[in-house]
Amino acid sequence: MKQQSQISEDVDRAASILHAGGLVAFPTETVYGLGADARNVQAVKRIFEAKGRPSDHPLIVHLAHAEQMREWAQNIPDVAWQLAQAFWPGPLTLILPRLDSVPDAVTGGLDTVALRVPNHPVTLALLGTFGSGIAAPSANLYGRVSPTSAQDVREELKDSVDLVLDGGRCPIGIESTIVDLSTQVPRILRSGKITKEALHRVLGSSVAWPSNIPVSSYPGGNPSHYAPRARIILASWDDVQQQIEAWQQRGVRVGLLASRLPNGLSQDVTWLRLAQDVDEQAYELYHSLRQADHLGLQVLVAVMPEDLGIGHAVRDRLRRAAGLGEVV
Ligand code: AMP
Ligand code: MG
Repeated sequence: MKQQSQISEDVDRAASILHAGGLVAFPTETVYGLGADARNVQAVKRIFEAKGRPSDHPLIVHLAHAEQMREWAQNIPDVAWQLAQAFWPGPLTLILPRLDSVPDAVTGGLDTVALRVPNHPVTLALLGTFGSGIAAPSANLYGRVSPTSAQDVREELKDSVDLVLDGGRCPIGIESTIVDLSTQVPRILRSGKITKEALHRVLGSSVAWPSNIPVSSYPGGNPSHYAPRARIILASWDDVQQQIEAWQQRGVRVGLLASRLPNGLSQDVTWLRLAQDVDEQAYELYHSLRQADHLGLQVLVAVMPEDLGIGHAVRDRLRRAAGLGEVV
């Protein structure tokens, strides 16, 4: 663990790099972000270059506190303040009508902007010192698994990032829930730790669920995402053994991502163990997908976890890692 004085030195350095137009990777409670000064168009463009990301994919502007919403959004509805009050700092991103002053590079040219106050002490310190919004997507190459440790970021982005702030492993491990508040009825665009039920408790029953929205109709909603090099095959407890054996017979290196070994499995298989608990499954998911690549697995047979709490989001990410789109 780093000393407090070392952390504040790193935070000061990170803020100077951002002010000078550089890129800083930072920890959040969800995944690591790749950040730039959201008001500096040239700096924001470097994010897209570093990730190899299409320039029309919008970024999330990270803020130190909810009041800063007024610097980026207009016509902010009451529900935005209610959700911010209930969940910020935390793993919830709000889509709001943007102010004209927000650079197109940040919003992918949309008339809306994504805002979030992340809950991580290092990054809240950085946001406080920096004093403005930090635009960031996840700190991975486009389409690949999001990083959940500083080491993942370094492995993934190498020299294209000026500084990686190390805040340890991300405690949640998958991306924030995204709620669109720019339309008449709020819509959930991406599932995460903040569930539909938790949102309903604050908003009443007025939230739509992604099954109503075609996958391609919102930016970043492409069906293939979060993918390791290994091919992901989704299985149930009924067919997992058959899947593993069929792939093994084809001579490929097969792994299993599941909370237990299926009964009667006749051959050895590299087992990447998932916890029973859904929160721990989310915490381990991307780490396990990266491990599959480190082990040189060609196929990873994954038993879908339960659709409970954050389990809904874990299922969504696994389906996309398998190239099958979101959970409906
Ligand atoms: P990442 O966290 O890496 O997935 O990047 C940020 C994600 O936020 C994008 O992929 C989009 O899905 C989402 N996002 C950002 N701004 C908007 C917006 N204005 N409307 C809809 N989605 C957005
Ligand atoms: Mg991402």
